[in-house]
Amino acid sequence: MLLIKCPYCGVRDQTEFRCGGEASRARPDHPEHISDPDWAQYLFYRENPKGLLRERWVHRYGCGQWFIVSRDTVTHDILDSLPMGDLPPKGRDAP
Ligand SMILES: [Zn+2]
Repeated sequence: MLLIKCPYCGVRDQTEFRCGGEASRARPDHPEHISDPDWAQYLFYRENPKGLLRERWVHRYGCGQWFIVSRDTVTHDILDSLPMGDLPPKGRDAP
């Protein structure tokens, strides 16, 4: 079980949160102009890296805010939790 730090509420049990996937994924600006394979790539394919990954999480049963978690996918160690739009500490770049 993970303990996740909401940047607004503090450390809580993972059951209060929902993961929204990789933070680096950006919705295409004009999805009506991209091909079906490219749209499928955006919808269904993930990098699933081994190691550091930045993910979107929402505090579903708390404040309802979305934020970014930097998590090691091997150890599940959480390195930081930041409000949306904040940058991770230098040297902590992840996909
Ligand atoms: Zn919260």
